[in-house]
Amino acid sequence: MSIIDNYVKNSNDVNSLQVEDACLPMSKSYLKIIGIPYYPYSDDRQTKLSSNDIKNILKQNHIFNNISLASKPRVIKVSPKSDMALVWIDIWDIQSGKNAKMLINRCFNVGNFIAIIRGANMNPGVPLCKNCWKWGHATLSCRIQGARCVKCNGPHKSEHHREFGWCCKANDKTNPPRLETKKGKPCPHSFKCSNCKGDHQADSVHCPFWRHRFNREWYIKKYTEIHENRSKSLRSNVNANPN
Ligand SMILES: [Zn+2]
Ligand SMILES: [Zn+2]
Ligand SMILES: [Zn+2]
Ligand SMILES: [Zn+2]
Repeated sequence: MSIIDNYVKNSNDVNSLQVEDACLPMSKSYLKIIGIPYYPYSDDRQTKLSSNDIKNILKQNHIFNNISLASKPRVIKVSPKSDMALVWIDIWDIQSGKNAKMLINRCFNVGNFIAIIRGANMNPGVPLCKNCWKWGHATLSCRIQGARCVKCNGPHKSEHHREFGWCCKANDKTNPPRLETKKGKPCPHSFKCSNCKGDHQADSVHCPFWRHRFNREWYIKKYTEIHENRSKSLRSNVNANPN
């Protein structure tokens, strides 16, 4: 028995709600919808609410009559243990956001459930540069010459780490002598993260910079801290070596 039967049974025939291209100077508005069950069938925990189900649901609600989606709806669970969905939709709008304003805080029925539309920020988060692996600027606006390695932060591309990284070169002066890393084998050495000095690579999801990427305040505070520590250590170096 389906909870929202009428809405999902025709999932194959959803093409009338097209994902359209923008024609005039248009902008996108970002909305989220809450209150829809993540599992549309009460007796089936395998079938999850799909993007097409959402298109179908929107198509059947008159408040979306003149609305065009700018991309496929995204469906996630509200939280890992929840059985409710959080749906993100991007719609075409005009600069003033008229369409979004018309929809925000409106409710509509989905079977026995009441869905509510809320505004959403397109929060892209703080970017991680994939050229120098610092946070705060996009790869295309990186100002360093050349590239940095995500692993050792050396002046080479990450994919050339084995050839250019010092750790993978043979060295008989170390004790015990270091062997060359064989071609095609991954570098077995570990480095500290160039951003937080933690035991992971600079692009790791375990890095606090990654976890806080949607929190600009944390990030500004952190960078101020790093900057202050750097000037402090510069000052103490100057004091220690007055000449
Ligand atoms: Zn960069
Ligand atoms: Zn490297
Ligand atoms: Zn290595
Ligand atoms: Zn880190």
